[in-house]
Amino acid sequence: MQTPTQQTLDWLARLVAHDTTSREPNLPLLEEIAAHARALGLMPLLLPAGGGGKGNLVVTVPDAAGGVRGGVLLSGHTDCVPVDGQAWASDPFTVTERDGRLYGRGTADMKGFVACCLAALPALLAEPLAEPVHLGLSHDEEVGCLGAPALAAALHAAGRSPRLGFVGEPTGMRMIRGHKSINVAHITLTGVAAHSSLTDRGVNAIEYGAEIVRYWRGVADRWRAEGPFDDAYPVPYASASVNLIDGGNAVNTVPERCRIALEFRALPGMDDAAHLAALVGFCRDVERRMRAENPAAAVTVEVTAQTVGLDIAPDAEVVRLGAALGLEPLADKVTYGTEAGVFTDAGIPCVVCGPGDIADAHRADESVELAQLAACEAFLGRLIGHLRVGGAS
Ligand SMILES: [Zn+2]
Repeated sequence: MQTPTQQTLDWLARLVAHDTTSREPNLPLLEEIAAHARALGLMPLLLPAGGGGKGNLVVTVPDAAGGVRGGVLLSGHTDCVPVDGQAWASDPFTVTERDGRLYGRGTADMKGFVACCLAALPALLAEPLAEPVHLGLSHDEEVGCLGAPALAAALHAAGRSPRLGFVGEPTGMRMIRGHKSINVAHITLTGVAAHSSLTDRGVNAIEYGAEIVRYWRGVADRWRAEGPFDDAYPVPYASASVNLIDGGNAVNTVPERCRIALEFRALPGMDDAAHLAALVGFCRDVERRMRAENPAAAVTVEVTAQTVGLDIAPDAEVVRLGAALGLEPLADKVTYGTEAGVFTDAGIPCVVCGPGDIADAHRADESVELAQLAACEAFLGRLIGHLRVGGAS
């Protein structure tokens, strides 16, 4: 079996040791990587994002002439999903090897890819490159790709503008050209509490919330029945669901509050903004009817995530480069969102390709196969060879 280098294993251990659950700061991890890059003679761009100890990091290996414009982006997010309530067989923040796999939070999603890229830095520096290579590390992907837009903007503002890129989410090192968008909305209905024997004095937030739930299910049913359809997806239409609800505080009290979280994942080409606007319009109508009962009632809609979909043409340059580097171009598209859509929207066309299996992500005992990391190293090695002055490019 192919095994990764000690450098990759060391980096993975260091990355996983940082608890970068999305609610935690990621700057300590980025600072550790930036210090390493500086020690290699590079000038990393550490880009703090407001407060909260969050940020993005760009590490550029210049071309042979010292240029940093254009070239290839290798992108990964540094945050992870929580381990709360999950039963792990070993400490999630200590990489543990069992049966040809490495266990730990983020091993698949997606510190394994980042570790491979960091381990490849010395090899990148050792070559005279025809084009620069940029390692872009973001924050808060798992909570709605919040860091990637600023990362893309910073790449352009710094005059680096990669011409294409690879986003290393776990795909089994297969090349993914398309995924859906993700939109998440949190809706809060504020009614008027009353003793449940005096329903006419209250405004029932749960009952009105149920109307929104039913409306959203209707949207989902319509997409499922009428499309649009794309059979490259395992779910070939836009999906919509209500996934969180809470409200009320006693069986004998008309509930003042109901909170709902819903999402939809649309096919590229659908008008996400219009569907969000229709949702907001429905909520306004609910609010109007609540206020007819009591003017104190209100409905608020907060869109907490809006990630664009990805739809890269089969003959796009990035696909041709991936194929030249031995990546299997898949016709299949994936239902999960990635930052590739964000970068592509920002003028940096990206495909998704990274070590591990998305099915191993987010769960207890998240893991990545050693062989997958080795395959990623081999891919990066071929990329370096391709970019070498006088190489295949
Ligand atoms: Zn991920």
